[in-house]
Amino acid sequence: MSLGEIAERCYNMTTSYLKVSTSSIIIKETQDAVRLTRQHLLEEVFTRWSPLNGEISFSYNGGKDCQVLLLLYLSCLWEFFIIQAERSQYDFKYQKFPMNNLFSVYIDLAKTFPTLENFVNLTSERYQLSLYSSMREHGTKASNMSCAFGDFLKRYPETQAILIGVRATDPFGDTLMAIQKTDSNWPDFYRVQPILHWKLANIWSFLLYSDEPICGLYGNGFTSIGGIDTTIPNPYLIDSKDNRSKLSLEFQWEIDNAFERGNDKINVLEVDPDDQLWLKKLGSEKYLPGWYLINDEIERAGRIKK
Ligand code: FAD
Ligand code: MG
Ligand code: MG
Repeated sequence: MSLGEIAERCYNMTTSYLKVSTSSIIIKETQDAVRLTRQHLLEEVFTRWSPLNGEISFSYNGGKDCQVLLLLYLSCLWEFFIIQAERSQYDFKYQKFPMNNLFSVYIDLAKTFPTLENFVNLTSERYQLSLYSSMREHGTKASNMSCAFGDFLKRYPETQAILIGVRATDPFGDTLMAIQKTDSNWPDFYRVQPILHWKLANIWSFLLYSDEPICGLYGNGFTSIGGIDTTIPNPYLIDSKDNRSKLSLEFQWEIDNAFERGNDKINVLEVDPDDQLWLKKLGSEKYLPGWYLINDEIERAGRIKK
């Protein structure tokens, strides 16, 4: 798929999600969350910076939150294109989607799960990311995010604003704003944070409905992915009788009615063999998929301090 084609798919998928008529409170809340994010992108971000020329970039690490933001960003790019095209004197059929790739940045941090790295590569192709990689640029993995973004800005000085898939329920997330400058100890640019209001349940509902590929770690009990040394599957998702009595699958409708799905399988990818070995060494427990957990307070229960 070209960037125009995947952007159009995301637009159609999002429109379809917004049209769902349901008694599910989660879906209704997620529809509101989608509307707010889209409105923010179209009315406050794309009017301030152009998505076409590198003024805006997208920070992407393959996690579920930035993936959801990416789907919404692509859907808005398509809408932005349609609006521009309608203003033009030429017929729509003569209009060409104005970009081939999406400006984006990935900081390769040390000790990342191979499954997540594979997912970044795969989705980078799917979403036509022109992905700056700190590893490719400098030959070593980064140990410090702000320095790595400093290097990125030296390479792409036209960057004014970077999109981030952070949520208010993340550590220190409750004081963040939708658009703000970076802190003084960070390189100078605007942070654009359009999914602060999204809860964990909203992320799963939208992602499962989208039928876009889901990183394999989430299929195996992960709910939040950090480095290999500091992340284990979420203990609240151990497949025990006790946990099962406390958890329930809230997204059966999204799974059964996923957008344009040809089969009845959730589009969750394989775990890399190295990570499978690592998981085996960790213990013999089986885990329920990440989307069985919707309590934001324990989303990071698998993040451990060393
Ligand atoms: P995650 O859910 O893992 O990350 C939240 C989001 O950050 C992701 O959705 C993704 O968009 C982005 N992100 C995380 N890791 C990477 C990566 N390796 N490569 C590319 N994108 C990534 N902290 C400050 O204290 N002050 C700042 O001014 C500041 N500015 C930032 C600007 C940018 C562009 C980014 C990406 C981060 C910034 N941070 C800043 C750090 C931020 O607040 C989080 O601590 C950081 O993103 C890690 O998030 P997490 O692991 O807690 O959650
Ligand atoms: Mg996150
Ligand atoms: Mg992280």
